[in-house]
Amino acid sequence: MAEGLSSFWGPVTSTNEWCEQNYVYSSYIAEFFNTFSNVPGIILAFIGLVNALRQRFEKRFSVLHVSNMVLAIGSMIYHATLRRMEQQGDETPMVWEMLLYIYILYSPDWQYRSTMPTFLFIYGVVFAIIHSQLLLGFIFKIHYALLCLLCIPRMYKYYLYTEDRSAKRLGRLYLITILVGSLCWLGDRLFCKDFSRWYFNPQGHALWHIFMSFNSYFANAFLMYCRAQQRGWDPKVAYFLGLMSRFKRQRPSNTCRLN
Ligand SMILES: [Zn+2]
Repeated sequence: MAEGLSSFWGPVTSTNEWCEQNYVYSSYIAEFFNTFSNVPGIILAFIGLVNALRQRFEKRFSVLHVSNMVLAIGSMIYHATLRRMEQQGDETPMVWEMLLYIYILYSPDWQYRSTMPTFLFIYGVVFAIIHSQLLLGFIFKIHYALLCLLCIPRMYKYYLYTEDRSAKRLGRLYLITILVGSLCWLGDRLFCKDFSRWYFNPQGHALWHIFMSFNSYFANAFLMYCRAQQRGWDPKVAYFLGLMSRFKRQRPSNTCRLN
């Protein structure tokens, strides 16, 4: 990871460095591709937010889209600076976001309505404090992966109960993007030396950002579809630009499968 231009942000203090040369295009941006590959995440989360507000979904979905935006902005700042504090500004919201997904996925079945958000809130605060003091490194990655895994059985249950083919397609796109994104992330970590010798570094970490931007979008759209069904809205997924989805709210019906 050779250094390029002089660094506006000072020496690298983050515990992670990625397979992209630092300060190649600007002295204000440490990792150019890893920084700007977060832009799709902001745009997609904004589209999701507009969708959620227009269709009058519960506030939790708006919060989810806003948290996706905050996460993408935090990631941009971190990759632009590669400083330890900004690294926490990237990593801590990643965990908060997963806690939000856990709440949305599991709360409809939770009998004691206030206990789950209270527990998750306290968990998020305690994690933030511990992570700020210890910067958990490898443990952070394992912990984050476990939180992701916690969501999958419930997502799979929703997928099994969904009959609509367009909605099922959202579920499959969610799975494909997380798998391909994870392979890009791993490739960037494991084969950096080889990639660095190539004429053009494939920028696996930047690709991970892009795939995960779509992954969050598909996950949120799928969850919104399931929620709309639970509420008896008889939703239909309408696609535009090939991949993007929006909902058509139809006559009320009682097709609710979960909850
Ligand atoms: Zn990143």
